[in-house]
Amino acid sequence: MPEGDSVYKAAAKLRAALDGQILTRTDFRVPAFATLDLSGQTVTSVVPRGKHLLIRVGASADAGEGSGHTIHSHLKMEGVWQIYANGERWRKPAYLARVVLSTASKTAVGFELGLLEVVPTASEDSIVGHLGPDLLGPDWDADLALANLLSDPARPVALALLDQRNLAGLGNVYANELSFLRGFRPDTPMGEVTDPERLVALAHKAITVNRDRPTRNLTGLPRGKPRYWVHGRRGDACLRCGTHIESAQLGTGPTDTRFTWWCPSCQK
Ligand SMILES: [Zn+2]
Repeated sequence: MPEGDSVYKAAAKLRAALDGQILTRTDFRVPAFATLDLSGQTVTSVVPRGKHLLIRVGASADAGEGSGHTIHSHLKMEGVWQIYANGERWRKPAYLARVVLSTASKTAVGFELGLLEVVPTASEDSIVGHLGPDLLGPDWDADLALANLLSDPARPVALALLDQRNLAGLGNVYANELSFLRGFRPDTPMGEVTDPERLVALAHKAITVNRDRPTRNLTGLPRGKPRYWVHGRRGDACLRCGTHIESAQLGTGPTDTRFTWWCPSCQK
């Protein structure tokens, strides 16, 4: 799953290419929107909301108020947006493209998007209205995020952090790394986490620092050294104490199962 910092970066890239520009060509390569044509309309904003990306397209002048569209995408596992100069050769095969948006000079291509839909901007809430406070949003609300996390004290902290209704933007990397940095195992019940407000503050700080880095890095170590303390490091030595990192599946059911990693010495 993507992390909110990746989506933030994708939005910045798309904003630089599309914002304020008139679309000269749109090509939606998903059946439900195959006949939709938004050419002639203007991109009015590009907004990340947690792990969701919203490209708002304004109505043409004669279409009236409130008739704008929002192109909603979610990267899921493999999705990526790439920007090209018009006519430039794509770096990924065309059959992986789900949507193509062109302006007079640039073309944005969404490859392998896990989700792509177009909805009236007026009903955006149906897509992102369920999200908790957005860690990278202008309206970040740490108190509300904390209250949401503590509303189910029995839930393992990693799963609580991943639930986008509690707070929006964290994926599995952050859920594991934040648990390490705060010194508790990822399966610790949320209600037993000491200083949960410091967990929320650290989540905000860590993802904010990383949104502007080309490569996510939680350890602060230089290139060539591990970027993560525990995520994906099963069997490797803990960077702090040398103990072998352990991993296990957490949660039940197809949508609520996650891999977790931890250091049995550093995390209690
Ligand atoms: Zn350790």
